[in-house]
Amino acid sequence: MTKIEENYDVVIVGAGHAGCEAALACARLGMETICFTVSVDSIALMPCNPNIGGTSKGHLVRELDALGGEMGKNIDKTFIQSKMLNRSKGPAVHSLRAQADKQAYTREMRKTMENQEHLVIKQAEVSEIIVENGMCKGVKTISGATYFAKAVILATGVYLNSRCLFGEVIEPTGPNGLKNATHLTKSLIDHGITIYRFKTGTPARVDGDTIDRSKMEEQFGDVPVIPFSFETDPASVQKEQVSCWLTYTGEDIHRIIRENIHRSPLYAGVIEGVGPRYCPSIEDKVMKFPDKDRHQIFVEPEGLYTHEVYLSGFSSSLPEDVQHAMIHKLPGFENCKIVRNAYAIEYDCIDARQLNLSLEFKNIKGLYGAGQINGSSGYEEAAVQGLMAGINASLKILGRDPVVLDRSQAYIGVLIDDLVTKESHEPYRMMTSRAEYRLLLRQDNADLRLCEIGNKIGLISDARYSGVKIKKKLIDEEIIRMNSVHVGDTAKINDFLRSHGSSELNTGATLAELIRRPELDYFMLTDIDINRPELPEDIKEQVNIEIKYHGYIERQMQQVKQFKKLEGKKIPADINYDDVGSLRLEARQKLKLVRPENIGQAARISGVSPADISMLLVYLK
Ligand SMILES: Cc1cc2nc3c(=O)[nH]c(=O)nc-3n(C[C@H](O)[C@H](O)[C@H](O)COP(=O)(O)OP(=O)(O)OC[C@H]3O[C@@H](n4cnc5c(N)ncnc54)[C@H](O)[C@@H]3O)c2cc1C
Repeated sequence: MTKIEENYDVVIVGAGHAGCEAALACARLGMETICFTVSVDSIALMPCNPNIGGTSKGHLVRELDALGGEMGKNIDKTFIQSKMLNRSKGPAVHSLRAQADKQAYTREMRKTMENQEHLVIKQAEVSEIIVENGMCKGVKTISGATYFAKAVILATGVYLNSRCLFGEVIEPTGPNGLKNATHLTKSLIDHGITIYRFKTGTPARVDGDTIDRSKMEEQFGDVPVIPFSFETDPASVQKEQVSCWLTYTGEDIHRIIRENIHRSPLYAGVIEGVGPRYCPSIEDKVMKFPDKDRHQIFVEPEGLYTHEVYLSGFSSSLPEDVQHAMIHKLPGFENCKIVRNAYAIEYDCIDARQLNLSLEFKNIKGLYGAGQINGSSGYEEAAVQGLMAGINASLKILGRDPVVLDRSQAYIGVLIDDLVTKESHEPYRMMTSRAEYRLLLRQDNADLRLCEIGNKIGLISDARYSGVKIKKKLIDEEIIRMNSVHVGDTAKINDFLRSHGSSELNTGATLAELIRRPELDYFMLTDIDINRPELPEDIKEQVNIEIKYHGYIERQMQQVKQFKKLEGKKIPADINYDDVGSLRLEARQKLKLVRPENIGQAARISGVSPADISMLLVYLK
């Protein structure tokens, strides 16, 4: 009996948040695609926080949706609470976050994957990549079956040689006790790929029927709900929502942690992997911020199908008895039943500087990396990388140029540029502070920024794109009208202004000038704007932001012009940095490692100074 041998256009290793987006993108672009996972019951599994979105992560989901990805639609179908975060701050940091019914989320994504043409799902552990003359030709599974392909996308997440730890307990498994993948790392190393060891952690799960919510602060969802996907009909997501709850740690819990910190595998040095600075465990928070007398713990339902609740902010790898002691000290948890212990997970990932901006490996053509394997952390960060890797693998097979979004176009561009350019020895989590042009990269205008690109790729339909074009036209027309409609210093206008605590006019002004006053906005001017056309809410929102922040937006556009100049200065792929005279040693080494595609990217490499960039510019001239 001969071993199984099959041929595909694209092989995806992993059906997590990256793998699902990559698989759907490839299949929707007509690629015969096979997607492997160690367990088909864990498709799009949420092993950690039961929510999608949040600050900057909501931006990623909106951008993914505008490019034709699935996560936004999937959470609109399976959310149980939704909230727009940071409403009290400027629009650049407004971010949508939705609590998910975890099982429904997995089930819905699996259904979409199973109903997708050109896509096959396979439960098998991939043990090897096949590489010939620098070209990736396919993969092998532990059973010895061979799957040939024109492109392979690695989206292995937290499973490569993973092990789960709490206290003295160390289990060689993936998350939630699932099987880990123990063969592929060796094959990657054999093909010259540099591997890192990272870690992350998750909190305990508690039976929500055994906690006393009267000792906590209730956190409600928004009404009305704003959907993640620009394609979701807002009316379809207006439904009853569950609440989350807020409680706090206290000195008694902090003392338990300090007294038992020597038993933490993290502090005892058992854990080798490096964890995310911005998702610290509770023991990290207590040890690093001793002056803080309490830490917030958000109690989040895991779904409508279960009583389990997730203790956000309480991730730990302390021994079980210590976990039990500290959880029972939480207000409202005195008599609770703990369903699952908290744990840390260590896993293998790659140094993403081995990838170029299309997420293809520099030294192995046709091989791509996406998600946690690239050193990022988070469902959303993984999903957008999966989408971009899927798009670029397919475009390459179709003989088309890759799509590379730069830092002025999208958070996706910031994320990928940071991963493949900057040295990082800990999981990378997206934050709004990472995006220098964040006033332009708002979650509310992702469709206006990216649907055209999605349409050119072939993932956004012409019908959807023409809807976006109409939206853009209506926004532009209304902004022109706001700048051309003048109101005089009449009694009616000044009464209106006084009633909104705004200074009276003593000469004419345009409506746009009034909107730019801090105490006024587009929505308020309805009373004095008699010829106002009926416009949808999302268009009104754009008009208000574009007019109100016009000055800041203009300034950022100028900065982008400067940025684009340096990004536009391409560096030949075959440049020999040894020929570039008087480059400092560190800069030469870093430039050889990262092989930046343009001067802008070169300037962002740590260890490459402005003087080195001048040398390079002179050499390129
Ligand atoms: C315990 C824990 C705590 C976490 N804490 C946080 C946190 O605090 N903050 C945060 O932002 N994120 C956290 N995460 C991370 C979050 O879960 C991931 O970022 C996200 O799931 C990554 O998505 P992915 O698609 O890259 O990988 P995953 O979702 O891990 O999916 C990987 C997929 O690859 C498959 N696979 C792997 N190797 C093979 C192989 N050789 N052959 C076949 N299939 C294979 C698996 O079956 C799975 O389908 C945590 C994850 C875990 C497990």
